[in-house]
Amino acid sequence: MAVPRFWREMPVRYNLIGSHCTSCDMYHYPPRSMCSGCHRKSIGKLEEYQFAGTGEVVACTVVYQPQRGYEMHGPYPLAMVELDEGARVTAQIVDVTPELVKRGMHVKAVFRKLGEDSESGIIYYGTKFAPVDEPEQEEEETAESVEAEL
Ligand SMILES: [Zn+2]
Repeated sequence: MAVPRFWREMPVRYNLIGSHCTSCDMYHYPPRSMCSGCHRKSIGKLEEYQFAGTGEVVACTVVYQPQRGYEMHGPYPLAMVELDEGARVTAQIVDVTPELVKRGMHVKAVFRKLGEDSESGIIYYGTKFAPVDEPEQEEEETAESVEAEL
């Protein structure tokens, strides 16, 4: 990821800031300039919104081949999290055995190291999610793989 783009996205990445449409009450993350629910009606009706950071896993997969610069994380669980407000975020799940991440798991946003640019030595930080409750170790059903959706 290019550095300028990263710094431009900083407030969004650090604070889980999205947008809320006051026309149709839809929430978006990342923030949008036009609502995906009511389109043109949303012009001038979008407000910045800071998400509470709690939500539920709706889809997940385990990444066994991390991208360059993310090697220290692999294998790691990557999930689509539906925030309590309704917006969906794709993020890494931390503090849990990858195989224990599954649909319906309650998670909360945490601030963690995202990756490292080996050439510049710059370390990226951002939002990841961690389980709210201790996952059940005996559960036999493993994470449903829906890679195509991510
Ligand atoms: Zn709308």
